[in-house]
Amino acid sequence: MDFIKVKDWGVDFDVKHQLLIAGPCSAETAEQVEKSFEGALNAGANIFRAGIWKPRTRPNSFEGVGEIGLPWIIQSAKKFNRPVAIEVAKPSHVKAALKAGVQMLWIGARTSVNPFAVQDIVDALEGQDIPIFIKNPINPDLELWIGAIERFYKNGHRKVAGIHRGFSVSNAAPYRNAPMWGIPIELKRRFPSLDIIVDPSHIAGKRKWLPSLSQKAIDLEFAGWMIETHCDPDNAWSDAAQQLKGEDLKKMLDTLIYRDSSSTNPEFLANLEALRYDIDQLDAEIIQLLGKRMEVAQEIGKYKDQAGITILQMDRWKTIFDKRVAATKAERLSDDFSTEFIRSLHDESIRQQASVMNSSKIKKPAE
Ligand code: PEP
Ligand code: MN
Repeated sequence: MDFIKVKDWGVDFDVKHQLLIAGPCSAETAEQVEKSFEGALNAGANIFRAGIWKPRTRPNSFEGVGEIGLPWIIQSAKKFNRPVAIEVAKPSHVKAALKAGVQMLWIGARTSVNPFAVQDIVDALEGQDIPIFIKNPINPDLELWIGAIERFYKNGHRKVAGIHRGFSVSNAAPYRNAPMWGIPIELKRRFPSLDIIVDPSHIAGKRKWLPSLSQKAIDLEFAGWMIETHCDPDNAWSDAAQQLKGEDLKKMLDTLIYRDSSSTNPEFLANLEALRYDIDQLDAEIIQLLGKRMEVAQEIGKYKDQAGITILQMDRWKTIFDKRVAATKAERLSDDFSTEFIRSLHDESIRQQASVMNSSKIKKPAE
């Protein structure tokens, strides 16, 4: 897939080469939209955002002001001379947004998770070359995210970008949604022409995490941010704890460190090359060792098979698991990595043993 980068969408770009989408979680009143957009503009926003229809977990909470808010956002965006983006979740939203003159749309995390809903939106957009941002689905499923992007691409949309807003998992602490940076990085690797921006507000859930998440986004070379700003965050009708005043967003962006993505300094390049050589050697050794370890696992599988005993002895696994995780942590590797690493090493061992023990004996069903 070949996409048009956001910088070629005709949007004014001047915030240290990063795209900044800012504005309130929800449009509440005409005055609140105007004040919030003004704050976002002063923080350097290239594009405004505001939610008109809010997908909420439970009914009877604030579900957005609806169509009545469309003229408020259009008028304020015009006043401050920036395009505005809103979330659409069904064909009637698309129709109303296009009719009102909204310049950009985004697909929310609770919509990109549902291929039927995405397709309905794509169909409602037939023939409209409007820029679209697609948030990751709430669950950590890269293929589902790609599927949503593909549906727009198939319909001829090229002004498409991704938004990484974190994933809903059982333990996202300290954040509201787990960043799982590996997923958007893999999306970047697979589709280099697709710009991906980061929504630190919905990852964070709390203002205090915004600076470090925003810094990480630029250190990982994402194309920019979508950040929720509000003229009176504490009294916001939705997502109060994560919204920032425009002036505080400006201060935060000024304290971030903007690094170059490459250097021409020969000394730096030589040192980097030497370190990368070490890493390449070490990776090769680790991979060889893993191969050897699995050969031993296969040997064990053969013995167990001959002796007629099962693959998994829970007592041994429990002891080994605790010991190995502790040893991994002792090498100053993170808790999460240590448990995940030992678990997946063991999973692969079981797969290898099972292939030795069962491959020739279990009949495959007829194709
Ligand atoms: C939002 O941007 O206000 C929103 C509802 O986000 P998400 O779809 O990421 O939850
Ligand atoms: Mn929000």
